[in-house]
Amino acid sequence: MRIGDIDLHPLTDGTFRAGPGYFGDHVTAHGHEDYFASDGKAFLPIGCFLIRTGSRTILVDAGMGPAMRDDGDRRLLIGGQLPIGLRAQGVSPADIDTVICTHLHADHCGWLFDLTGAPTFPRADIWFGEHDWHHFVADPDVWMLDHIRHGFREADGARLHLVDQDTAVAPGVDIVMTPGHTPGHLSVVVSSGVHRALLLGDAIVCPIQLDEPTWQSIGDVDPALAAQVRERLFRELEGENVVGAGAHFPELRFGRVLAGELRRWLG
Ligand SMILES: [Zn+2]
Repeated sequence: MRIGDIDLHPLTDGTFRAGPGYFGDHVTAHGHEDYFASDGKAFLPIGCFLIRTGSRTILVDAGMGPAMRDDGDRRLLIGGQLPIGLRAQGVSPADIDTVICTHLHADHCGWLFDLTGAPTFPRADIWFGEHDWHHFVADPDVWMLDHIRHGFREADGARLHLVDQDTAVAPGVDIVMTPGHTPGHLSVVVSSGVHRALLLGDAIVCPIQLDEPTWQSIGDVDPALAAQVRERLFRELEGENVVGAGAHFPELRFGRVLAGELRRWLG
């Protein structure tokens, strides 16, 4: 996908299998059988995005890494495929100059550090929300893969960019704060001329949330704020020349919102 002269390429690190219960105890597959088509489950990507401008190679989200997490019927995450996708694009870990993590859940920062805590992307600066540092890295009681927490704590501080407000990362690549799913959750805006693409992380997990505003994510740290921010983003996606994709959208397909009486998702 091209946004002006910026190349935007979706990649997946593996599979996120979600049952209706991922979206809340009250959620059933009824009316959404297409989405939960595989034995009552949705098979979704663990999405990442590669952004290439003339001079920069930026990765948005770093997958699950060579790891899995099994929460039974509600959620199963199996990572490990991101290096293959990068290689297919002719990109080596050392080519990546910047990694932006939309948030620090395990399926978005899993490749940042190897099992010894050493950086996987040796030249990359890492950008993420400051409040996620306090929530995840600094709090030993919040679950995080041990080697990722260790890697963050041992990392060269000059390479870590903790952000708490909308920030420009590179020409045409901006961070906007979209808290709720996690305290420091952010989204990335890729823009060129009048065209914009929003990389939504888990601020919108699934386009169905447009029609089903009570669908949450079991990962939402502040569900009420997450719902507010989701609606704000859906409104933004009503704009002309704007498309968006979340990290777990089916096939990582971009879409937008058709406004008006027949308001609906156009994928
Ligand atoms: Zn996620």
